[in-house]
Amino acid sequence: MSETKILVYPHKGLRTVAAPVTEFDDALRQKVKDLFAMMYKDEGCGLAATQVGLSARIFVMDVSPQQDQPRCFINPEIISKVGESLSEEGCLSFPGVYAKVVRAKEITVRYFDEFGQSHTLVAEGLAAHCIQHEAEHLDGILYIDHLSKLKRMMLLKKIEKLQRAAS
Ligand code: ZN
Repeated sequence: MSETKILVYPHKGLRTVAAPVTEFDDALRQKVKDLFAMMYKDEGCGLAATQVGLSARIFVMDVSPQQDQPRCFINPEIISKVGESLSEEGCLSFPGVYAKVVRAKEITVRYFDEFGQSHTLVAEGLAAHCIQHEAEHLDGILYIDHLSKLKRMMLLKKIEKLQRAAS
């Protein structure tokens, strides 16, 4: 999977609804390792399997300032959401652009780790935003879907401009 690249908007693969993970084996753990490697290389704080063209309900995250607290979520399910918080988000599939998104302030997420152990985590702040953002990727939902029509148009124009300048 070393040749795998992060899909960039408007790649259709980003709209894939990912399939649940059923085998917690070495192949899965390798995929998780690859996701972490790609996320750290591009200095992101989260990366979902659908962003690399893999239809599997897996995402990785590290919101620590030193990027030394890797966390992997398999078959995640957000079981409660409390409050509201506005925070600026970016996405490795939208390089160079950011937008403020309203999400729940505190969430509870149930998930499995790469060994098949079940966990429940309560998260707030940046971690809560990141988990909601990444979990949505697994359903083919992108953070631009949360923006107003006007803001989304402006952001997409900026992306087009950046992509033209890069090509
Ligand atoms: Zn993203």
